[in-house]
Amino acid sequence: MHLQQSLAIVLQVKDHGDSDKIVTVYTLEHGKIVLIAKGAKRSKKRFVNKLELFSLLAIHFATSRHSSLMRLDQAELLNPFPVLRENYELYVAASLLCELVLHWTKEHDSDEELFRVLVWALERLCLAGAAVNRTIIFFHVKMLDIVGYRPDLTGCLDCHVLGASGVLYRFSPLRNGLLCSRCEPNATVSAQPLSIQTIQLLRRVQEMDQSKLDRLHFSLTATREAIALLKRYDHHLLQREVQSWSFLG
Ligand SMILES: [Zn+2]
Repeated sequence: MHLQQSLAIVLQVKDHGDSDKIVTVYTLEHGKIVLIAKGAKRSKKRFVNKLELFSLLAIHFATSRHSSLMRLDQAELLNPFPVLRENYELYVAASLLCELVLHWTKEHDSDEELFRVLVWALERLCLAGAAVNRTIIFFHVKMLDIVGYRPDLTGCLDCHVLGASGVLYRFSPLRNGLLCSRCEPNATVSAQPLSIQTIQLLRRVQEMDQSKLDRLHFSLTATREAIALLKRYDHHLLQREVQSWSFLG
């Protein structure tokens, strides 16, 4: 048995048998890992109030050569982000961020930057007055960059032009980029229409440092279009529903 430690965000908690819990966390040093918390259901003392969704923990866990499941040994609560569990809108948003990390990452594939962006986004949701949908958009765009699935928003994939007058743009998840109405005049049925303003805003999110993202103003239309694009992109690339999207108001 080998003891390791890491900072971790709780992504998912499930009951396991009468007394244990299975906890999936995204860690700074080891990426996504699944742990068994022995006695967490029965004896409240050891992990009391620690294994709550979204919590930032310092964990000690034991790996074993005989089992793929690792045992959670100790958890120290660094930030419980309580407000995220008290407000429905924030709960749904935080659940979405965690579900995205759950589906977009592989076990034991660590990425320090993704861990830090996740903590940044959870902290941002806790700030009074920070727009929830914008935090989701910022996090999602940055996460796609980090995991290597940046949508190509530089111009139409066929003619390479962006912003020609009278031309409509749509996003094709299949081709991972934009197509214009001149190159694809008939492809409007399953189209994801995008205004030039939304395309440019999303490009700026891709390029800007996260500390400066608050300077960007997203109109209601831009927010709606960006959310719709990200949702479709998830569905196409993950080939599954990300459940939290359906709870988002
Ligand atoms: Zn074109």
